[in-house]
Amino acid sequence: MDLTGQHILSSDQFDLETLDALYDTADLLVSVAKGRQLIRILEGAVLASLFFEPSTRTRLSFDAAFMRLGGAVSHTTGVVFSSIMKGASIADTARVISGYADVMVIRHEDENAIVESAQASLVPVINGGNGAGEHPTQALLDLYTIRSEFQCLGREINGSRVALVGDLKYGRTIHSLIKLLSLHQNLTIVCVSPPHLTCPQVYLDLAAKAGHRIEICADLCTGIAGCDLLYATRIQAERAGEDVLNLAGSGDFRITKAKLNAYCLPHCVVMHPLPRDSRLGAQDLAEDTKADPRLAIFRQSDSGVPVRMALFAHVLGIAKKIAPSLKNSVWSSK
Ligand code: ASP
Repeated sequence: MDLTGQHILSSDQFDLETLDALYDTADLLVSVAKGRQLIRILEGAVLASLFFEPSTRTRLSFDAAFMRLGGAVSHTTGVVFSSIMKGASIADTARVISGYADVMVIRHEDENAIVESAQASLVPVINGGNGAGEHPTQALLDLYTIRSEFQCLGREINGSRVALVGDLKYGRTIHSLIKLLSLHQNLTIVCVSPPHLTCPQVYLDLAAKAGHRIEICADLCTGIAGCDLLYATRIQAERAGEDVLNLAGSGDFRITKAKLNAYCLPHCVVMHPLPRDSRLGAQDLAEDTKADPRLAIFRQSDSGVPVRMALFAHVLGIAKKIAPSLKNSVWSSK
């Protein structure tokens, strides 16, 4: 599918052929993301970056991606400093800002806000996270990482056992990732969460309809045993409200070094969209896992820049012009 001029709202917009093309472009841009090569192909272009919810990785990696392609970024963060505080609708806001920019990235707590923005916008809108809905660009970089980790291990994604762990109800990265994983074949997807934070049925149905086996498990050690991919997530306390208060007594979901060693295979790939909750006693991926070579979390976050660069290149219709426009850098920080 040609992504030129398209809004990127959900990961169900992608098929394997489109992903292959996107990832080929991302591969070409890894050296640019690291500063070893330069490209000014988006010189003069403006990205409007509208993050109405907290963000570090997504916002900064979108910025870095656009700037490393030669474009400039114009921001607003939070609702406090935006005209939304004066009662402006998201549709009006998106229409106005689309008159200033060539593409927009929006994150908003309201699940419908990105679609409403896209309907009003004159330029492509990219979903940077819509409440507990989706986070399609995170899923794009997650699958890029999964492909590269599995390739290094000489393994196939098809046929693998995937454990999705943590807050599967409010964790939007999970919702988008399930859609991309479902494009593969013969997976066993184990949803490991406290019973009240299990994955919404709509995503489970989608995976089951695509022919994958779904297992629901409320015990961490049983759920992660023997998996090829462990994708951990943070409890989304800002969304989960009472569900978080109910967490006490729903089991131990802290993924520690000892549990990885006891239950996970030597080739298991361990991922997390970040941030992980590193506070004492948090039900998340523990810091004592940091020396484990199976931990791919920082290779995963590093993929954010080349994958988002590739997405801009495809949405703005310049992907084919990249290879001839690359120049070697006279400096390099990495
Ligand atoms: N950064 C991811 C998101 O925005 C994951 C998280 O916040 O837990 O959804």
